[in-house]
Amino acid sequence: MSVLERITSKDAIALEDKHGAHNYHPLPVVLSRGEGVHVWDVEGKQYYDFLSAYSAVNQGHCHPKIVGAMTAQAQTLTLTSRAFHNDMLGKYEKYVTETFGFDKVLPMNTGAEAVETALKLCRKWAYEKKGTPENQAEIIVCENNFHGRTTTIISFSNDPVARKNFGPYTDGFIKIAYDNLQALETALENNPNVAGFLVEPIQGEAGVYVPSEGYLAAAKALCEKYGVLFIADEVQTGIARTGRLLATCGNCSCADKHCSGSPETKPDVLILGKALSGGAYPVSAVLANDDIMGVIRPGNHGSTFGGNPIAAAVGIAALEVIKEEELATNAYELGVLFRAEMNKFIATCSVVNSVRGKGLLNAILINDTEDSSTAWDICMALKENGLLAKPTHGNIIRFAPPLVMSEEQLLDCVGIICKTLQQFEK
Ligand SMILES: *Cc1c(COP(=O)(O)O)cnc(C)c1O
Repeated sequence: MSVLERITSKDAIALEDKHGAHNYHPLPVVLSRGEGVHVWDVEGKQYYDFLSAYSAVNQGHCHPKIVGAMTAQAQTLTLTSRAFHNDMLGKYEKYVTETFGFDKVLPMNTGAEAVETALKLCRKWAYEKKGTPENQAEIIVCENNFHGRTTTIISFSNDPVARKNFGPYTDGFIKIAYDNLQALETALENNPNVAGFLVEPIQGEAGVYVPSEGYLAAAKALCEKYGVLFIADEVQTGIARTGRLLATCGNCSCADKHCSGSPETKPDVLILGKALSGGAYPVSAVLANDDIMGVIRPGNHGSTFGGNPIAAAVGIAALEVIKEEELATNAYELGVLFRAEMNKFIATCSVVNSVRGKGLLNAILINDTEDSSTAWDICMALKENGLLAKPTHGNIIRFAPPLVMSEEQLLDCVGIICKTLQQFEK
């Protein structure tokens, strides 16, 4: 079968169903084209994308600058492995470290790989810099975290669906409540073997849980007090999604209007992925200063594709688009508008309890039980009305459109969302 042959949605779904592992439960829509904030299905119907591939497509679908950089590099040099140097990697490394204000970057491909890298870096740092006894290092993580899908990462997940029957699990993790400084201090003060604290600045997959004001700064201060690494997983929150270049912005060169630029929340180890690629090609990264990254020496860690020339070209272009188009500022301003408009609607309805989020990472809480199908049914109706979103954890719907949206488009989307929700009023 030629890939150019036209296929109906029904046939495309049947093919996936028959030949693909059933590790996802997608909305029944088959997309074949994207541009900016829009995607189109194989029948030609247009939708607003309100998921942005879990915030990988912050710069909008098929951004010409990113696609241009990718295709130009693909026609020149695609992969050398790190056995040899390539002429793009150093340029990218300089650009990405200067952008985020760190001495060094370790390039990987996927978010989960970058999280794994950060965990290994943290452990090695503990043994070599802190003097932690061999094999005793522990890393504090939060309940309801989402950091990816590897065996080690799911070892400290508390989502039974992600975890069950994948054991035995990796040791060395302590789970505490999110957004709870007392729990963090208790875990730190009772245990000299703690090497780091791994945290999402906003818990995206868990349902867009925004911690209390000041939580991240205070958590970082506790990490400093007890001499452990403050590790931020900004795979989903980073790259302008929450209205600033990073949710933990500080000492970087973002020049965002709404960034305090204060180093209070700047992580010791920063994990990036998703939109570092502009949605075009897998690019992830771990950033840290020399006193930490220096423990990684040749042979300790690596990846055949990590730091390849296409990824380097794409990474630079993806960040340039964020800066040139001031997408952090746009996300901030549209986020304020979105929550204000949704709150106006929520005051008049009974189907939604609340809206929460930062920048353009938002969620609404549906007024029904977690195991009800209401959120799914609403997403199906949104699809009919031309907007694609997906429930996360039962009765929560995440809304995360590309950041290249205009105010007019956002208000159009608010109209679609409110009209759809009204269909569910009893
Ligand atoms: C998506 C995500 C990951 C995993 O990224 P993959 O590219 O899917 O491996 C890790 N951490 C967070 C916070 C994420 O949202």
